[in-house]
Amino acid sequence: MTRYVFITGGVVSSLGKGLASAALGALLQSRGYTVRLRKLDPYLNVDPGTMSPFEHGEVYVTDDGAETDLDLGHYERFTGVAARKSDSISSGKIYSQVLEKERRGKYLGETIQVIPHVTNEIKDFIACGDGEVDFMLCEIGGTVGDIEGLPFFEAIRQFSQERQPRQCIFLHLTLVPFIESCNELKTKPTQHSVKELRSIGISPDILVCRSQGPLPEKVREKISLFCNVSPGAVVSAPDLSSIYEAPVAYHEEGLDGAVIDAFGIDPAPRPDLSRWNDVTERMNNAEGSVRVAVVGKYTELGDAYKSIDEALSHGGIANRVKVSAKWIQAEIFESEDPSLHLEGVHAILIPGGFGVRGSEGKICAAKFARHKLVPFFGICFGMQMAVIEAARNLAGLDDAGSEEFDHDRSEGGEARKSFSRVVFHLKQWEQDGETQSRKPDDLKGGTMRLGAYSASLSHGSRVADIYRATEISERHRHRYEVDVKYKALLEKHGLSFSGMSPDGKLPEIVEISNHPWFIGVQFHPELKSRPFEPHPLFADFIRAAKEQSRLV
Ligand code: GLN
Repeated sequence: MTRYVFITGGVVSSLGKGLASAALGALLQSRGYTVRLRKLDPYLNVDPGTMSPFEHGEVYVTDDGAETDLDLGHYERFTGVAARKSDSISSGKIYSQVLEKERRGKYLGETIQVIPHVTNEIKDFIACGDGEVDFMLCEIGGTVGDIEGLPFFEAIRQFSQERQPRQCIFLHLTLVPFIESCNELKTKPTQHSVKELRSIGISPDILVCRSQGPLPEKVREKISLFCNVSPGAVVSAPDLSSIYEAPVAYHEEGLDGAVIDAFGIDPAPRPDLSRWNDVTERMNNAEGSVRVAVVGKYTELGDAYKSIDEALSHGGIANRVKVSAKWIQAEIFESEDPSLHLEGVHAILIPGGFGVRGSEGKICAAKFARHKLVPFFGICFGMQMAVIEAARNLAGLDDAGSEEFDHDRSEGGEARKSFSRVVFHLKQWEQDGETQSRKPDDLKGGTMRLGAYSASLSHGSRVADIYRATEISERHRHRYEVDVKYKALLEKHGLSFSGMSPDGKLPEIVEISNHPWFIGVQFHPELKSRPFEPHPLFADFIRAAKEQSRLV
């Protein structure tokens, strides 16, 4: 029987609900249970694929090609369980499914309403895969009381009502702020938030209380009494210096124990936290630090490059160093000398990106890394910029560019120029034996080359050595592609195409061998990195940065 944990949030947003859910998933795994985590987002976008990273943070991509909320990245990083399309839903998707059924006449003339049609659709989503795992953890996005969240709260209330007793529990995350003027922790926001939850028929079984420090016993007792939750089910969740301390810290505060008790599981299997103890031990005993410049576009918002940031820290865990990322706006290099910002960094990374703005700055950064022999990692757009740089400055194709820039400019009304389309708009490719076709005026949502694709690596290449394999599978999310017709020319000038799609048509990896570490990849390796299993490319990139730190 699958047991369900519904995770909701109150008081304010950004309390770390995703992280708490992910840490709980890891703790249940540590007791030998199988878990799956799901995210239900009340916003009206069909998926976050078209949302700006400035507003919503990064778009996380699953193996099966879904563009999802970044919390699915936390879930994967903490549990190692690959997320699927069926693990992420939004109001937009729910409503479009309901409306699609209505148009097809599936409701046989009924009047379509939020209850039961929308709530039934939500319940079907939650129940999909019932019985496959021991625990299904479902996180509801937003905060209790949000208008658009109501159908989700109603659906989980009904869901638990329809299941067996003790098959579903509700875990509510709140904030216990410290008010300096009176030197006190305040429980009132938690009380109000629980009241709000009760008003829609949900009584929380567990309260996870976020606060700066651990909650004193007295405060826990007060929350327990006023919110009608047993004292052991009021879990203190203090701020931590690293997110990877969460499983051990939350275990010590009794989170998994409270969940086991709420389900009435007795005796409970004992947890084995060695994986997490090892991760924290490595983080807390770093033997040095390396500085990595990340040259991007959305650098003001930490969440825009969440998986990159995490994968870099995993590389640090693998090498026992602390990685400090220096976030740099690529546009700066269009007016300022790159060495002012890049001199002294131990490695340079250009992450994925979209649009012409900042692209010349990224090309400058790639050139700096190539010339100054600084370890360089180009990811997706970063690889495309590195290839354009090599085409211009190694192979003499002065007019090398990407069709993406041309599309961007032509939207502003400027006439199309002729140039060497080293990066071109991919209109046809193979996926699992089927041909995928795209047109420039296709819908924007969900039409990129998305999800897991395999690549064949050249024997003897640096990447084959790093992966210890010549067949790999990595996740993609892009519309443009390096044109294979430039392969021979670029290889003649030292940029080797060491990874190709299995049919040999699409360049997947480029590298320069007479450079300490210069690799560009068309895919997103950061999405598959875990603290306890750092991605080999990130582990080796940070190893190279560590070497570099000994030289400068
Ligand atoms: N904008 C580029 C493309 O669509 C790169 C995308 C990315 O970096 N994810 O191909």
